[in-house]
Amino acid sequence: LAGCEAALQVASKNIPVTLYEQKPANRSKAHRLDTFAELVCSNSLKSLDRLTASGLLKQELLTLGCKLIQIAFDIKIPSGSALSVDRKVFSAKVTDLIKSNSLITVINQRIGELNFDCPTIIATGPLTDGKLYQTLWDMCGQYLNFFDAVSPIVSKESLDFDHCFLADRYDKTEDNKIENGSYINCPLSKDEYFEFYNQLINARQVAFKEWDNINYFEGCMPIEA
Ligand SMILES: Cc1cc2nc3c(=O)[nH]c(=O)nc-3n(C[C@H](O)[C@H](O)[C@H](O)COP(=O)(O)OP(=O)(O)OC[C@H]3O[C@@H](n4cnc5c(N)ncnc54)[C@H](O)[C@@H]3O)c2cc1C
Repeated sequence: LAGCEAALQVASKNIPVTLYEQKPANRSKAHRLDTFAELVCSNSLKSLDRLTASGLLKQELLTLGCKLIQIAFDIKIPSGSALSVDRKVFSAKVTDLIKSNSLITVINQRIGELNFDCPTIIATGPLTDGKLYQTLWDMCGQYLNFFDAVSPIVSKESLDFDHCFLADRYDKTEDNKIENGSYINCPLSKDEYFEFYNQLINARQVAFKEWDNINYFEGCMPIEA
């Protein structure tokens, strides 16, 4: 995401760019697609409401000529007052824009060492791969941490639509375009809620994968009380 935006912005100033990307030969455990700007996270870019921090930020990005947010607006899918995209469509559109830009040369290669012979932007994200992780770790004084939770996904097929209804959050429907709302709501009575809670906390747990178990805070200074 950041690397694509940076490449497009630099190229828009008529400056040639060489963009290195390790995919498809190498990829992190979270990346699946061969294309650029892959949202490994939620497909929601959060609120469009300008009275929220994230809504205002999106408007500011648009005003400043951000290329990726413009693509997100162009291809947005219904999600009430939030801006959401189809990950694959978003990634394909960004890839088209990068590949059709004659000032951007793409080299599919994993970078290990950094060479500062020319201005360099490093945008390898929280899952920076290979030797470069160690290089950055050393450069940052050994404070290089990332922590996130994996979102649970509930499949539509598992829901009983006799009990669900469509509505948007806080009754907000963007431009009143979507009649019945774009979120599936699953109402629960008090007893059902407690039953759900008990089932959830006693459910089988997903085992940590090797890469989930990394101590991201190793080497961090303890926070003083
Ligand atoms: C499992 C998971 C869940 C997340 N959930 C959320 C969420 O719900 N909401 C949220 O806002 N954020 C979430 N994040 C954070 C999210 O990753 C970032 O918000 C966003 O994707 C970071 O964008 P980026 O451009 O910095 O990095 P990325 O989009 O990851 O891009 C980095 C690129 O660099 C390439 N690369 C890496 N190492 C090398 C190398 N050595 N040489 C060459 N290329 C390399 C990668 O292949 C990748 O294409 C999540 C992250 C993970 C891992």
